[in-house]
Amino acid sequence: LEEVRAVDPEIADSIVREEERQNSHIELIASENWVTKAVMAAMGSPLTNKYAEGYPGKRYYGGCQCVDEVENLAMERAKKIFGCTYANVQPHSGAQANMAVFLAMLEAGDTVMGMNLAHGGHLTHGSPANFSGIYFNIVPYGVNDDGVIDYDKVREIALECKPKLIVAGASAYARTIDFKKFREIADEAGAYLMVDMAHIAGLVAVGLHPSPIPYADVTTTTTHKTLRGPRGGMILSSEETAKKFNFNKAVFPGVQGGPLMHVIAAKAVCFKEVLSDEYKVYQQNIVKNAQALCKGLMSRGIKIVSGGTDNHLMLVDLVDAGRTGKEVENLLDSVNITCNKNTIPNDPKSAFVTSGVRLGTPAVTARGMKEEDMDVIAEAIALMIKDPEASQEKAKELVAGLTAKYPLI
Ligand code: PLP
Repeated sequence: LEEVRAVDPEIADSIVREEERQNSHIELIASENWVTKAVMAAMGSPLTNKYAEGYPGKRYYGGCQCVDEVENLAMERAKKIFGCTYANVQPHSGAQANMAVFLAMLEAGDTVMGMNLAHGGHLTHGSPANFSGIYFNIVPYGVNDDGVIDYDKVREIALECKPKLIVAGASAYARTIDFKKFREIADEAGAYLMVDMAHIAGLVAVGLHPSPIPYADVTTTTTHKTLRGPRGGMILSSEETAKKFNFNKAVFPGVQGGPLMHVIAAKAVCFKEVLSDEYKVYQQNIVKNAQALCKGLMSRGIKIVSGGTDNHLMLVDLVDAGRTGKEVENLLDSVNITCNKNTIPNDPKSAFVTSGVRLGTPAVTARGMKEEDMDVIAEAIALMIKDPEASQEKAKELVAGLTAKYPLI
């Protein structure tokens, strides 16, 4: 950081303050994580200097010997982890991975089924504000009153609208997704199946969530959520499907220019970590911590959508507590707990206000926190939902105790 400070003290100060914020806050945003120092170092390496348009062995620039090695290793490791024969590690983000797949498999105006954003889907699965909703005819599906995907309804909608593509996967869904069922529905409706496993990729990597690979025509993911790599995206499929739709061409030159080789190096480092025994324990602890946090909240009378979680996240239903998601996000922020407001199924409030918050355990688990710590977090959250004025000091104390116990790695 001294080098940054010597050139740009303002940015150095912001970085230091952000580091302090991460250290002093409990991070419960389900899509965030704490990467290892090795992943961080690869991202800050001289590979950022290199242009490498194209793919290993077929570049539009000279001097690509070393970055070819890096990209080949990243692809090989990704294929090994997820048990597939094609991996494209170049997408700059999850959104760009999804955009490339849409470009490769669809024509503008085609019908696509995606999970409703208000029910836990992602913007790129058909929001009117996103390329997916702008260029394609989106027919959304969602969850039932219990907050669980209604597969009968998904089938009914698919048979009715005959989509070219069904997108399975979510940003705020706490239950196991039945990819086999989605495959059956897609087959019956004559649709392709794309799974966006961005949120659960780390769990899938170690077998804690069923893999979409045997069922999906193509799987996309981010690399920075449960997977614990650098910010970025990836596309996985069989070599045959990748050739048929030319996913490589859709990524470059379809939606991107030169790949971020420093980020691809960091993806490779993350994938090496994924293949370790320690990583499996980390993923197991994410799930154990999510269960413990959920149990801690429910035992304090806080309602959870679908009554629990199978993965790394949960949706808190604040309707009975008489609070909005926006309010609780702010209340928790005031005691150094970071989370995000989130709509709940059939939310009476708008997406800017909402009646829920989404909580996830990947970052606190990366920090080293255990199940007993989750109970302390549940206590702080419950205090702030029930009686914030009287509880603020107590909640702050509980948070400070935990952040001091697990300092920044
Ligand atoms: N897909 C899903 C399911 C997501 O939850 C997200 C991000 O939240 C994305 C895609 C987009 O990823 P990115 O922010 O890297 O574009």
